Amino acid sequence: MGRNSLFRIYKDAINPKNCRFCEQALVEDRKKKPKTKRVGPFSCWHMGEKATEIVFVGKNTWVSKKQETDYKLVNGKFRDVTPEDVFSRDDNKYFNFIRDIVDKTSGRGSVCVTNLAKCKVTDDDESYVDLTANKYYGNCIAKVFSEEIAGLNPRYVVLFTNMYFNEYLEKLLFGRKSCEDIGKRRTITVTRGKENRTYPWLVRKYKNGNKEMYMLVTRHPQRAWRKELKSEIVKWTQNPERIHY
Ligand SMILES: [Zn+2]
Repeated sequence: MGRNSLFRIYKDAINPKNCRFCEQALVEDRKKKPKTKRVGPFSCWHMGEKATEIVFVGKNTWVSKKQETDYKLVNGKFRDVTPEDVFSRDDNKYFNFIRDIVDKTSGRGSVCVTNLAKCKVTDDDESYVDLTANKYYGNCIAKVFSEEIAGLNPRYVVLFTNMYFNEYLEKLLFGRKSCEDIGKRRTITVTRGKENRTYPWLVRKYKNGNKEMYMLVTRHPQRAWRKELKSEIVKWTQNPERIHY
């Protein structure tokens, strides 16, 4: 799917419909907290020129209300970037984490980076204060994220969102006919020297004839053992049905 169709999904889904729900929800939030405001809709970092092999998904934007206008927006709302735009910067740990994975897997030309929710609710103009309640995620996941993934048609989707949004995700097939979870445990143990840590690790397989899509839900790389987590994700793309226990 080319960038134009991706942005068409955004325009169709968000401008007339979904963010109207965000605005309605915000009216309710403002009754309790008058300073509450919305940043966005704002999400996509579409990076590759080739067909998308892997999509990385975060919760929502880190852009502050004040920064909102500094970003170059495409179609009035969304940012389109090349891999060089973000992967050449050493100051962004999140994109460096993704870069290191794609360099060992899909390559830089076939990656898309996006977020579950396209808006962020905050009460602070200057910083990343995230007050986005689950009702916003519910709307965005069902009406935008689901279409986005169906349209991109990747082989792998990696969510850095922990298990917080499973109740919304498990209702979706992303245009496929069926899905099943791989393995029963929803965690993985990573090891560093003599120490172990347990990270969330849910693998779901979506089927549609011969074309399969695999989804991995794990934790955000921030404050994680980055090297170990990266290595597990790379191994997972090599064998997404590997059972972890
Ligand atoms: Zn919205």
